[in-house]
Amino acid sequence: MDCIFCKIVEKEAPSNIAYEDDKILAFHDLQPQAPVHVLIIPKKHISSLDEVSFDDAEIMGWLMAKVKDIAKDLGLENGYRLVCNCGKDGLQTVNHIHFHLLGKRQMKWPPG
Ligand code: 5GP
Ligand code: ZN
Repeated sequence: MDCIFCKIVEKEAPSNIAYEDDKILAFHDLQPQAPVHVLIIPKKHISSLDEVSFDDAEIMGWLMAKVKDIAKDLGLENGYRLVCNCGKDGLQTVNHIHFHLLGKRQMKWPPG
């Protein structure tokens, strides 16, 4: 499958890995939008939040429960933001579900 994030999972494409286990991978974004900006993905190819099924409950629950540990390892003790862009209006550009973990700066609201 021609998916850049699957290639990163398979180590066929390079990345700067922040966390990895058998279910998920976190790696630093190529174009960071904050001093800390990592992408957290399930190793399983799921194309977007729109495609998450109840069969994915375990892996997605695992990912969510790991966010705080990844954030802590990256020194985000003052808080952080987790973003999942979905579809055209959500400005999703890579069709392998990913959660942006952003931190080490004061965020603003509403997002653009
Ligand atoms: P989206 O707009 O789909 O929510 O976010 C995709 C993110 O993936 C962007 O922040 C972009 O910088 C990042 N990205 C795209 N291709 C690569 C890549 O090959 N390696 C890494 N580390 N990040 C990528
Ligand atoms: Zn993929």
